[in-house]
Amino acid sequence: MTNQGLTPEEAARYLRQRGEVTGGEIFLSGLSARKALELAREARRVARASGGRSVDPKDDQATSPTETSEGEAMGMTATYDDLRAQALVCRLCGLADTRKHVVFSDGNPRARLMVVGEAPGAREDETGRAFVGPAGKLLDLLLATVGLSRERSVYICNVLKCRPPGNRDPLPEEIQTCTPYLRRQIQLIAPEAILAVGSFAARFLTGREESLGRLRGEVYSYQGVPVVVTYHPAALLRNSGWTRATWDDLQFLLQIMPETDRAVTPD
Ligand code: SF4
Repeated sequence: MTNQGLTPEEAARYLRQRGEVTGGEIFLSGLSARKALELAREARRVARASGGRSVDPKDDQATSPTETSEGEAMGMTATYDDLRAQALVCRLCGLADTRKHVVFSDGNPRARLMVVGEAPGAREDETGRAFVGPAGKLLDLLLATVGLSRERSVYICNVLKCRPPGNRDPLPEEIQTCTPYLRRQIQLIAPEAILAVGSFAARFLTGREESLGRLRGEVYSYQGVPVVVTYHPAALLRNSGWTRATWDDLQFLLQIMPETDRAVTPD
């Protein structure tokens, strides 16, 4: 089905209908960047007008009965601070036995861009911060090339909040158990766009079991938020030949964030 010819109002109605059918997870592909942005803005406007989503993680007053019901159904509480506090003591899967720290996020909770990776690594597990170490530094550098910084304009987290032992791949049951936290984070942060880095985040947020190379270059939608896919910075450290492709993906991302604050003072 194509969505190219829809008006924003028609698109919003379509998103709402799909959301009712799919339980809020909506995957669209092949959209133009402009159409994806229109869809996302209209979906967010409608959600906010109906009281269905908090737009400010620091504003407890923005939390409505509608949004608490989903959080409570998942065992989650509704506010950002409560969600984070709950995650930090979570023992819902076996990774709780081997982790040192739960890694909830890093960056700015009021950010317009959300970067989602796979899972914490050894340095993240040690520090409790997302994307530290060489891969984190490379991510910061790449974001800086397009005028974004984690301090001001980017919120960073992972699909899994705890490190799989030995950096093994996440297990399907771990992803299933942990991703209600991510879904709630996306609702509460309400970013203008999501950058999925690496194949696990890309597959989860696009709903497609395809290689990262095949998923790149399109705009998808997750919970009404445009999603762009690129390589994980740890993979770039192993294969620098993908750096140019990653920069191209970031330029693509900027096309759906045309009003991005690029006046960031370099660190
Ligand atoms: S990985 Fe997620 S579900 Fe498992 S213990 Fe950590 S926070 Fe809880």
